[in-house]
Amino acid sequence: MVGGGQLARMTHEAGIPLGIRFKLLSDTPQDSAAQVVGDVVVGDYRDLETLRAFARDCDVITFDHEHVPAEHLRALEADGIPVRPGPEALLHAQDKGVMRARLSEIGVPCPRHRIVSDPEDVAAFAAEGGQGEDGQGFPVVLKTVRGGYDGKGVWVVRSVAEAAEPFRAGVPVLAEEKVDFVRELAANVVRSPHGQAVAYPVVESIQVHGVCDTVIAPAPDLSEDLSAQAQELALRIAAQLGVVGHLAVELFEVRDAEGRPAVLVNELAMRPHNSGHWTMDGAITSQFANHLRAVLDLPLGDPRPRAQWTVMANVLGGDYPDMYSAYLHCMARDPQLKIHMYGKDVKPGRKVGHVNTYGDDLADVRERAAHAAGYLRGTIKE
Ligand code: ADP
Repeated sequence: MVGGGQLARMTHEAGIPLGIRFKLLSDTPQDSAAQVVGDVVVGDYRDLETLRAFARDCDVITFDHEHVPAEHLRALEADGIPVRPGPEALLHAQDKGVMRARLSEIGVPCPRHRIVSDPEDVAAFAAEGGQGEDGQGFPVVLKTVRGGYDGKGVWVVRSVAEAAEPFRAGVPVLAEEKVDFVRELAANVVRSPHGQAVAYPVVESIQVHGVCDTVIAPAPDLSEDLSAQAQELALRIAAQLGVVGHLAVELFEVRDAEGRPAVLVNELAMRPHNSGHWTMDGAITSQFANHLRAVLDLPLGDPRPRAQWTVMANVLGGDYPDMYSAYLHCMARDPQLKIHMYGKDVKPGRKVGHVNTYGDDLADVRERAAHAAGYLRGTIKE
């Protein structure tokens, strides 16, 4: 697996019962997964020779992130090493411009968008959408097409003057209408090389300051109809883009012109995803186990939930308490609680772990998850 983050750590964990020989290419020996994997190569995934040497004795390559250059992945494929997901599919998770163009081509509903060249062009894009809040089409969302994550590389701009910043990185900029969404959802699916696919229940994802904070599975009050539509959309995207492994389709729930609920696609991630962390304890087969099965072309496991409600809450780095006493408190308070810490250095706002808990009463499950995440973060003291 390329990339030493927490997704690699949890994928490795899912491979242990299967006796999978797991090899990791990590930036540093301290990375989350490098701390627990036995066979670690420390090196730069942007360097082709490093990648080639790493991949030589691998049966298949998969990823913790989407940043490996496509030309390097094609070179590995030319060396005869299966890369899953492959570079052609992965491009759609690497470049938001390519993703929007392709999704629009295959008829997937997306926010109004186009690549913009400078702040004046942003103003033209804004005006094309109608009057907006300010009479000139603003606000508009600008995104660098590459390199963004957790809200970095995304700007909400309200004027031409504010539109200058995103162009400074020298990366192409995508403009999108600012969607007036009801909430954010995610449809997680897994697809194997010979086309078997499974869909997890659609979840609600609650963001705070552009970072995922809480995920509720399944999304409360989502009609069966819209839920099935979202799952079918994700399965269709996986099939049409040739995705192998886990695909997270981040969605906006909106109201159409007649006021009926509908979805628009925000983003794609072709790897296990934060919106699927609940599956570790809340689904019959976790996203990590199913990602591995898909990458190894094994039959996929049952994606159905184990409980009526599962809530995942991220533990963000903050004012860290003494871990032992935090565990004592959280475990005693909620025996259903499952804690997953990533071994990462604590920086304010950084995802350092998550908790899952479940039950029949959603308000109670949410309270327990939020309490544990807050306590582990150090923002709740009792
Ligand atoms: P990232 O690469 O950080 O995941 P996203 O494209 O998912 O970037 O954007 C981060 C967040 O910004 C989204 O979760 C959503 O809350 C908000 N956002 C992104 N695009 C739009 C849009 N077109 N309209 C309204 N909000 C948006």
